[in-house]
This record gives sequence, C-alpha cells and structure tokens, in this order.
Amino acid sequence: MAAAGDPGQQWAEEVAAVVVVGSCMTDLVSLTSRLPKTGETIHGHKFFIGFGGKGANQCVQAARLGAKTSMVCKVGKDSFGSDYIENLKQNDISTEFTYQTQDAATGTASIIVNNEGQNIIIIVAGANLLLNTEDLKKAATTINKAKVMICQLEITPETSLEALTMAHSNGVKTLFNPAPAIADLDPRFYTLSDVFCCNETEAEILTGLAVGSPADAGKAALVLMERGCHVVIVTLGAEGCVMLSQTEPVPKHIPTEKVKPVDTTGAGDSFVGALAFYLAYYPHLSLEEMLKRSNFIAAVSVQAAGTQSSYPYKKDLPLDLF
Ligand code: ATP
Repeated sequence: MAAAGDPGQQWAEEVAAVVVVGSCMTDLVSLTSRLPKTGETIHGHKFFIGFGGKGANQCVQAARLGAKTSMVCKVGKDSFGSDYIENLKQNDISTEFTYQTQDAATGTASIIVNNEGQNIIIIVAGANLLLNTEDLKKAATTINKAKVMICQLEITPETSLEALTMAHSNGVKTLFNPAPAIADLDPRFYTLSDVFCCNETEAEILTGLAVGSPADAGKAALVLMERGCHVVIVTLGAEGCVMLSQTEPVPKHIPTEKVKPVDTTGAGDSFVGALAFYLAYYPHLSLEEMLKRSNFIAAVSVQAAGTQSSYPYKKDLPLDLF
C-alpha cells in the first residue's frame, strides 16, 4: 500500500516525525532459583543487562517501524549512559537532545526474577529526574516541528507537562501514556492529551473503578474522556484494547490475535510506539485501523523474550501493515 505519509519519502528531511520526551533505564537482571530474604546473599544462575525505560522503549518501537525519531532525555555521564546513547543510535534514533549529566547516574532498574517468574524490582530514576525545562527549550524546534510527541511519567511530571504544553500549543499531536500512574494526576494532563493511552491498572488508579473486562475499560475510558482527553485508549493485554473518542463517544473493543506469549514485558510500550508511528505517518487511517495494527505489532513483541529485544522491525512484519 503506498500511503501519503510513507516513511522515508514525505519526511525524508531532517525533521523527526515522532519525538519522545521521556526516560531511559538500564535493566540489571539477575535470575535466581528463589528471591533472597532480608540480609541474605544467594547465588543467581544468570545475569544480563537490557535497555529499558518507557520513553526509550516506545521510541525504539516507532523507529523500528521506520519512523524518523528523536529522543529527548537525560542519562548519566557514566558507562551505562554512554552505552544507552549507542543503543539509541543503533536504532536510528536522533540523540541530538539526549543529554548526559555529571549530577546523577543513568536510571537503572535492578531486577531479580525467580524460577516462578516472580520478581523484585528497584528503580532508581537518577538522571531521568534531572531532565528540565531548559533542556526542553533547547529541543523546542524539534518538538514543535514533530507530527507526534509522546510523554510518560518516568521523568518529573513538571517536565512532562511542559513538553505537552509546548507540543499542544504548536499543533503537534500529543500521545500521553500515564505510566506509572499517579492517583492525583494534574488535570492539565487530560486536556493536553490528544490521545491518552493507559493500561488496565493505570485506568483503575486514575478512575477508582475496577477494570477487568472490555466493558469495564469502556466505563473507565468515559470517565477519563470527561476530564478533557480527545481520544482515550485502554489496553487490555491479550484482550487487545478499548477506544473512545469525542467524535465516536461509544466505547469500542478492538480484539487482538490469539498468540502464545513468551514474555509480555514491554508490550504496552510496543503498542504505544506503534500507535505513534501510525498517527505520524498514516493519519488518514481510522483510529480503529491504527489500533488493530498496533495490537498486531504488540502481539508480535510478546512472542519473543525481553523488552526492546522483542520489538519487531518493519522488514519482519506483513506488508499490509504499511
Ligand atoms: P507491560 O507493562 O507489560 O508493558 P501493559 O500492561 O502496559 O504491558 P498490556 O495491556 O498488557 O500493556 O498490553 C499492551 C498491548 O500488547 C495489548 O493491547 C495487546 O495489543 C498486546 N498484548 C499484550 N499481551 C498480549 C497477549 N498475551 N497476546 C496478544 N497481545 C498481547
């Protein structure tokens, strides 16, 4: 299908179509037979380092589909930070506004997983929390020329709000993923979100409603839309997602493929990154069609291990997605 906004054609110039203002985290993963008790030292059987952080994950997925992307973020002036920048470059992501600071370490997630798949996770956001308004000002031209800007809540809410305000006032479509969710979210996050995309747990925290089915998700989406969002999407794991928009104010369930999941970590970020890609490059598609395709891509990601390592590239996907 030759789309009006084919990646690499219409946006072949320098401008990034998808800009992410968000987090980078280095995952330090130890696999053990059981979780240690307080004060106990145990042997693990495997260790690996992975690239994570919701912001970077979403940017990597959009880039692998062919989007021209830029990552506005902050890492430490340490080896994890330098390795992360190299990872972004290898994914063809612009690092012009990936800052390195001496004042904090690169964000890390120390993860212990036992044989039953149970885990203990400690996140130290570090340099992510130092991304500030001055940094955004330096990136203003890039943010304001984008087609879509994505934000989450792994940097300070003030910085996310500032980025959303900049993008919104310049006609850039804003895609906000309120993760990890905070119950008393500043009301401006709703009105500044063209697309507000959360998972079941986040929908529950934000609305106080129990979300266990597509019907429940529809009710929560109605509450979120009343707060000022233009489009609300609630993702539902193997059930796909539910959409609601001011132009189609009746919740609609978009089911997804039945697949055998290997590792669902990071599926939500694959979905958001894919959605940003479609919003930027295929704006003529209906929202429902964009969500069907994003569901498909996220379902591919759950069939491989890891987070970014499970995200598919355009070349590995069916042609009719493009
Ligand atoms: P995570 O926190 O693991 O990144 P999440 O909780 O934010 O994920 P989910 O709602 O679990 O996000 O999943 C996001 C999307 O990924 C779903 O809307 C769906 O498209 C796809 N997905 C997730 N799990 C499955 C599954 N088991 N089978 C098929 N698709 C899935």
